[in-house]
Amino acid sequence: MNKKIGIIGGGITGLIVGIFLAKEGHKVSIFEKNTLLSETSSKTTKLLHGGLRYLENFHFNEVKNGLNDRSWWLENFPKQTRKLKIAIPFKNKFSLALIKSFLGIKLYEFLAGSNNLDKSSISKQIKNDQFVLKDDYKTYLSFFDGSMDDDSLGRELISLAKELNIEILEYNEVKNFDTKGTIDKNHFDKIILAVGPWSKILLEQNNIKSQKDIDYIKGSHLIINRKSEFGLMFSGVCKSRYIFALPYQDYTLLGTTEEKVSHPELPEISKNEIKYLIDSFNHILKKSISKKEIISSYSGVRPLIKSKDNFHKSSRDFFIQKNDSLLTIFGGKWTTSPTIARKIVTMI
Ligand SMILES: Cc1cc2nc3c(=O)[nH]c(=O)nc-3n(C[C@H](O)[C@H](O)[C@H](O)COP(=O)(O)OP(=O)(O)OC[C@H]3O[C@@H](n4cnc5c(N)ncnc54)[C@H](O)[C@@H]3O)c2cc1C
Repeated sequence: MNKKIGIIGGGITGLIVGIFLAKEGHKVSIFEKNTLLSETSSKTTKLLHGGLRYLENFHFNEVKNGLNDRSWWLENFPKQTRKLKIAIPFKNKFSLALIKSFLGIKLYEFLAGSNNLDKSSISKQIKNDQFVLKDDYKTYLSFFDGSMDDDSLGRELISLAKELNIEILEYNEVKNFDTKGTIDKNHFDKIILAVGPWSKILLEQNNIKSQKDIDYIKGSHLIINRKSEFGLMFSGVCKSRYIFALPYQDYTLLGTTEEKVSHPELPEISKNEIKYLIDSFNHILKKSISKKEIISSYSGVRPLIKSKDNFHKSSRDFFIQKNDSLLTIFGGKWTTSPTIARKIVTMI
């Protein structure tokens, strides 16, 4: 039976869940406090991926979901998404790090199965006129992942939502909701709380216990005024995580950082983060880039479900909390929003 469904939050999760539900014939309304896709969902690294580096922490199921969904995006939105070559530079011809990455990429391709985008390769050189790497880099390991132009993809999704007659209520901050289906005095058969980093805060404001605790991890990016041909993935100067330098429109996107913050409101890049990103990139470049080449920056907050691990190792997996007519979504990635939506459709 078709249901009346109220979704709180118009990020990628709320929007894709709304689209999947509307396609099933449900009547969907989305309440968004700002404009659609204006918060975390516009602050990403623009990758459609399983997350190669999550293999280090054995998050196989999450990676597999991401790889399946990567194909879903590339097949359904070919004009706004693309296959992207990403190279990892190594100083030695053979090293433990190189072998580890090689095996990781092979496992990544195996998990992708028939969804694998192209074969990885090892080469002595890469040709990238805009960014020449130091001569000490002797080996490059290249693999393929998905990338999106989130501006055009977002516009396409919003027009799809409108075609499906989803009621879009922007600048509509929800203050009160309950587990019986009420959102600010309107009644719905089901409510989906898809507010990204605000899930725990909003549940508690409405006296509903949150089953998950959240770590708020700020991630920042720089946009560099140079066009690049393919992606690079390399260790940041602090070595605790990888940084990407990726083609984005006519520029290069450099990111991301990971910094624990106490709340998700109005994140901004700090001087330290700018220095860290520029220093890390210059560490591998023959000819350094300068801060003058930065044309803009942005920051978002990942709501990572708290685990026993250090947050650098935390999973990007999602969790759905059910309280009577209310379903609350925690965590997830842009890429895996279709998996979340399929699960919600089944639960409804
Ligand atoms: C730095 C960084 C890099 C990332 N890179 C990638 C990547 O490359 N690939 C990938 O797949 N994922 C990536 N992610 C993850 C991805 O951004 C998120 O998983 C995804 O955007 C979350 O979407 P969401 O809809 O859950 O949250 P949001 O986009 O934050 O949407 C939640 C919405 O709820 C609204 N809201 C909040 N409170 C209320 C209220 N009271 N009433 C009404 N509306 C409300 C907000 O305004 C917001 O629009 C990255 C995340 C970060 C932070």
